[in-house]
Amino acid sequence: EAKSAGRNCFCFFSPHMNHIAQMNAGIESDLRDALNSDQLFLEYQPIVDTTSGNYVGLEALVRWNHPVRGRLCPSDFINVANDSGLIGRMGTWVIEAVCKQIALFAEEGIELPHIAVNVSPKQFQYSAMCSEMLNLVSKYAIPRGKLAIEITEELLIDNSQKVHEQLATLRAGGIQISIDDFGTGYSSLQYLRDLPATRLKIDQTFVSRIETSSADRAIITTIAHLAHALNMRVVAEGVETEAQFTLLRTSGCDEVQGYLLGRPLSVHDLYNLFKDGAEPFTLAAQ
Ligand code: C2E
Ligand code: MG
Ligand code: MG
Ligand code: MG
Repeated sequence: EAKSAGRNCFCFFSPHMNHIAQMNAGIESDLRDALNSDQLFLEYQPIVDTTSGNYVGLEALVRWNHPVRGRLCPSDFINVANDSGLIGRMGTWVIEAVCKQIALFAEEGIELPHIAVNVSPKQFQYSAMCSEMLNLVSKYAIPRGKLAIEITEELLIDNSQKVHEQLATLRAGGIQISIDDFGTGYSSLQYLRDLPATRLKIDQTFVSRIETSSADRAIITTIAHLAHALNMRVVAEGVETEAQFTLLRTSGCDEVQGYLLGRPLSVHDLYNLFKDGAEPFTLAAQ
């Protein structure tokens, strides 16, 4: 698939393989084991402010060091996690790992910017999700605003009262909310209005066409205006070139994320970036 090409992630499973169901069953039981051993880990991709160049955020991305298959990326196992119900436990693991990381760095005197965690719609079906998340935030003494969740438009399709209450509870507990992959799903302006979101992330499909398509530029500029009117910051995803960065800044994007600014980083690389306070990102052309 074109979208996964060039990712810093080896995708083991091709969608053309014949025995997907069988392999998914294998993945499911392996994932159960992975949650009980130390096979999952996180990488952290920087988010940069387009005006100052400062590193203002990180997105935590889950990876799986499979004992036989090697390094797997989310597209290899998130679907199985969702369908098997293991996503609940995986999600809790991810939140706790992020909270631990923030606390560990704080002990070393290193202050990380906010860290965003992806939460799939399925996870909102677990009634304990919010209280678990808020318990972890308090257990690790995470400051308000340090933790964010990324949700997708798909979550809002049913417009259920329960989801709105969950999101409000998380917001009240100091957790920021980003709308991820915006523009690719079911975008209702009404949901956008009613959502207590702090950030809107424009999907990389728009970003990848910004240099060649005036339509995509118009869409991005318009989304940015709308988001600002609703008091949200605008983040562009999948930024790979300096030309994209410059166009996104002039189109009203407040923050950018993508290979140009940094690949998803190991904890070691994260430490090196932030140990003495990160130098702002600058364009080579300037
Ligand atoms: P996402 O939240 O939209 O994350 C961005 C994806 O784009 C990541 O892929 C990232 O590595 C990739 N990316 C970042 N910059 C660039 C770029 O400049 N160019 C290109 N071509 N790609 C870029 P990744 O890590 O494979 O994650 C894929 C998806 O898996 C994520 O999409 C997210 O929806 C999901 N995911 C990742 N971690 C978790 C998790 O802990 N829980 C849940 N529920 N889902 C997760
Ligand atoms: Mg995301
Ligand atoms: Mg995204
Ligand atoms: Mg995306």
